[in-house]
Amino acid sequence: MLLDQFQTIGRELSARGLVTSHSGNLSVRFGERLVITRRGSMLGSLTEQDLIETGINKNDRNTPLASSELPVHRAIYQSTNAQAIVHAHPPYSTALSLAEQEIVPRDEWYDVIGKVPVLGFGQNLKPGSLDETVAQELKDRRVVMLYGHGSFSIGQLLEEAFSFTTVLEEAAKVLCLLKSINSGNINPV
Ligand SMILES: [Zn+2]
Repeated sequence: MLLDQFQTIGRELSARGLVTSHSGNLSVRFGERLVITRRGSMLGSLTEQDLIETGINKNDRNTPLASSELPVHRAIYQSTNAQAIVHAHPPYSTALSLAEQEIVPRDEWYDVIGKVPVLGFGQNLKPGSLDETVAQELKDRRVVMLYGHGSFSIGQLLEEAFSFTTVLEEAAKVLCLLKSINSGNINPV
């Protein structure tokens, strides 16, 4: 059941080009524990061995097997009521994150995700340096972007967190297309 959920969302992220073959990570929370994708796993073809259970507040023998982004997942669960987290590398959102300090949808998706901040904008980011910032920002929003890196979205289920990732990426794609039209690279019909 749990594996099914991970496999479905992993496959969708991969098929939609929202992660590379070995990037992105997913997790769900169970009280003081979490289940997260294995370090270096392929989200498009997850197996039972790719689901790693470890503590939210405590390390155990499984901890080294977990995704390298475990610390930010832990920080999010410690600070928010999220039950699931999706981390992806959506290309249009990432391109915009290199140019804008926030991604502001111009379409109907503004009502769903509002203004999405680009955390660490313009900074030379070191791994882990924004973990706490990401967690604090997700206290009152569903999705954030990391400068030149990717998105973190939360939900009560993996599917819900995933949906906010797709909403962000569609809004970002529309913004990029609009910029192309306005710059004359695409002729308006
Ligand atoms: Zn990443």
